Amino acid sequence: LTGAIVSDQPDPISADEVQRRLRRAAEIASSLGFIGQVEYRHVYSQSGGAQYGIGPSADDDLLVVYSQAFDRDANTEDFDLDAMIAHEVGHQRLLRNAKLRILLEKFPGETFEEALASLVGSVLLPETKSAEMLVWKAAAELTNLRLSGEAIVDFVERMRSLLRKLL
Ligand SMILES: [Zn+2]
Repeated sequence: LTGAIVSDQPDPISADEVQRRLRRAAEIASSLGFIGQVEYRHVYSQSGGAQYGIGPSADDDLLVVYSQAFDRDANTEDFDLDAMIAHEVGHQRLLRNAKLRILLEKFPGETFEEALASLVGSVLLPETKSAEMLVWKAAAELTNLRLSGEAIVDFVERMRSLLRKLL
């Protein structure tokens, strides 16, 4: 997801607020089936609101949620925390679930990986606005491949129904 402007820095927050943010992020992640460690860092990251890191085993995997995830969550026009975390959990599933890994091998490349992470996230979430945002994000990603609008809608629909069976 998009990074912050370089000169930006987050306003300070209390230790309680840091704990509250961590708890909220960890609750969302575990409700979506994330395995591993969740951290909250009160910094603006160049890598966006949240980031998944793969470890030697799933238990060692790391999900870091950054300050701007909460700024974006507060903006009703922007991605909410559920959508941002679901996208990162989608990355974990793609790499940790053998059946999903086959999908990644079938559709190599960063664009497909990003689109698939959003689609996995959209299926993990209940049918909410957050899920809709991720479907929209996946479709936006796929326009980079110069596919027609029709081909994108078709791919997204097929992939979501396949993922519903695989997840
Ligand atoms: Zn991603």
